[in-house]
Amino acid sequence: MPSDTPLYKNHVMLLSQTFFIKDNQAELLLCAHKYDFEIIFFDEVQDFVMAVDNDIGNSLFVVDLDALHNMQSDMHDSRKTLQLGELLQRLPSGQSYVYLQTVRQGGRFLLQQRLVDSNCLAYAEKPIANDVLVDKLFTLFVQRKRGDLVRVMYLGEPVGLDEDFLLQHRIEVLHHADAQTLHLRVKELQPDIVLITDAEYERTEAIVRVLQKNIEADPVREITMLQRLPDAALTRRALASGFDEVLLVTDADVLSGQLANRANKIRVNKDLIGKDRATGLLNKIGLQKKAQELIRQAAREERPLAFGVVDIDKFKTINDTWGHYFGDIVIKRLSLTLAPHIGERDLLSRFGGEEFVVVFWDCTLEEGWARLDAMRQAFGAIPFETQKNEVRHFSFSGGMAAYPQYKSENELFLRADAMLYEAKQNGRNQICVAPVAD
Ligand code: GH3
Ligand code: MG
Ligand code: MG
Repeated sequence: MPSDTPLYKNHVMLLSQTFFIKDNQAELLLCAHKYDFEIIFFDEVQDFVMAVDNDIGNSLFVVDLDALHNMQSDMHDSRKTLQLGELLQRLPSGQSYVYLQTVRQGGRFLLQQRLVDSNCLAYAEKPIANDVLVDKLFTLFVQRKRGDLVRVMYLGEPVGLDEDFLLQHRIEVLHHADAQTLHLRVKELQPDIVLITDAEYERTEAIVRVLQKNIEADPVREITMLQRLPDAALTRRALASGFDEVLLVTDADVLSGQLANRANKIRVNKDLIGKDRATGLLNKIGLQKKAQELIRQAAREERPLAFGVVDIDKFKTINDTWGHYFGDIVIKRLSLTLAPHIGERDLLSRFGGEEFVVVFWDCTLEEGWARLDAMRQAFGAIPFETQKNEVRHFSFSGGMAAYPQYKSENELFLRADAMLYEAKQNGRNQICVAPVAD
């Protein structure tokens, strides 16, 4: 297997001395790989501590407290809580940890309190199924990541908001002056949060309904009223007319802090909904949304887009011959091969099992073909070691269509997919493009 790029994005270091983990180590690993992380197992506290100290900042540290049973204690007194204290003390304090404890331990509040106050990122209670544990650890990775920009659209007289602070938290605030055209701007820029001052609401009471009743409106968008003074009657009316939330205008740092917390939740939700866990790429849902957005931008700026669909050749045979586990690695390697070819404004998605979609911004059909063909060659050049001293190469086929010849995301996909079919028919390992004139 080529080793230039690490196969998995994240690492979990797991300190565990019991059979709980040892028995199902392989299964736990397989689950983890589907979520784009590797698990490194430790059974000595000393080694674990060294790994924590040497970490460069993108790992999660998990401590199975059953490790206490076997831990070499320097103390003669062998009471559990003392041992726990000793273990916690030995963990480097600059980091935070996920503690795995038994339900029985979790039932003791004092112990629990001690844990959550000891650099605790989270705790989990055993027994816990491998896939559940992996899924929860993944969520911790997502929460920790810098994440995408959250967009806030603001209507009304500015209130105290600390926009520098917000920008640091990856939130951009766009001001809009006119209630009558807000719905158009929202449609165009697709903000995650819309903030409307109480004064604007009182002037144009129907404003939220106009935003929400559009059948294409994003149902997860949050529409929030900023209220200057406590007034229960006004709050009640605002909620009844469709606001999701009402925020009282207080000090700029408080209001900005509240917004930053909301934005974090929105970001995590969007990530969990719109991205593929195994590769971190957009999934089908995420792609649809982003592609539609990109098409609107292309229309505004009068730029072409090239839309490509990619499917690994004879993948069933790969699975059948070398196993599903190996198949997963091939998919993973393909995603890592495609990613460096993708520009800032392009899109890359794992659309399904071994199918990927690329969208190239400001790119004609011919240019798109050349770029996708370069990706095809890069993937074909990867040596996969199927056994010791046996190297194989694999290939993919691709189809392409371009905007503005094809106007919607769906038309582009269908056309590119038809071209993919053609590439398969023509013998695979090639990219076919839709002719410009139909
Ligand atoms: P073709 O060249 O015509 O595309 O042949 P193919 O064998 O690749 O056919 P097809 O694209 O229909 O096969 C897709 C297979 O991919 C079927 C499914 O079992 C397998 N697959 C889908 N998702 C995954 C995955 O996440 N991991 C692994 N290992 N296999 C997957
Ligand atoms: Mg397929
Ligand atoms: Mg295939």
